[in-house]
Amino acid sequence: MNITGRVHSVESCGTVDGPGVRFVVFMQGCPLRCQFCHNPDTWDTNKGTIYTPDQLMSEIIKYKSYMIFSGGGVTFTGGEPLLQADFILEMSKRCKKEGISVAVDTSGYVFSDTVEQVLENTDLVLLDIKNYDPEVYSRVTGVELAPTLKFLDYTRDKAINTWLRYVLVPGLTDNLESVRALAEHLKNYSNISRIEILPFHKMGEYKWEALGYEYKLYDTREPDKKLLEEVKGIFLTSGIPLAN
Ligand code: SF4
Repeated sequence: MNITGRVHSVESCGTVDGPGVRFVVFMQGCPLRCQFCHNPDTWDTNKGTIYTPDQLMSEIIKYKSYMIFSGGGVTFTGGEPLLQADFILEMSKRCKKEGISVAVDTSGYVFSDTVEQVLENTDLVLLDIKNYDPEVYSRVTGVELAPTLKFLDYTRDKAINTWLRYVLVPGLTDNLESVRALAEHLKNYSNISRIEILPFHKMGEYKWEALGYEYKLYDTREPDKKLLEEVKGIFLTSGIPLAN
């Protein structure tokens, strides 16, 4: 079987999606429709550039020494990389053969036998939980929360090192009761080594306009310091270190 993947773009020297210097692969296609998404141009599963594993590997390998020297690696993000689990599995295996560490940035919405195999070949999961209140989660993303919580359980059962990510959007994901409940829930997961709070920003706004999608957050501001500190304080009660 000839496996290919649809790739939105690549970034050779990323520093925010995992430790060290990273080769970041933005995969095309996403089943979620997050209101705050700054990459809506990754949604459409029919777009992107088709890569064979050989083609993508030949790009990755150029940066192997930077990645290994810095304690970095390759991060597959998107979009939702696990929508193309066959391709990610093949790429992960190849990276591991080269001694390159692999991270997968996911919403945890997609799961299958192949995803299980991907996770066996993944060093780090960056799991984005958009909200802990099921109703808010559905309103924010267009899909249900339950698969993501199951995914989180799976990472614990398999002892996969996981960083939890939370996008803080005033008026949307700043429901502090649910943040408290999430922090409490996370106490049960010794595989989570870090929590990253990502403050909402408006850098992707122009993409929504260009694509003709209805953007609902024109009037939403970036979180102020007070809110950020409050949410950090709540997450710290989980006992898990914060990244920032
Ligand atoms: S999961 Fe990520 S790429 Fe998909 S809609 Fe949400 S923010 Fe955008």
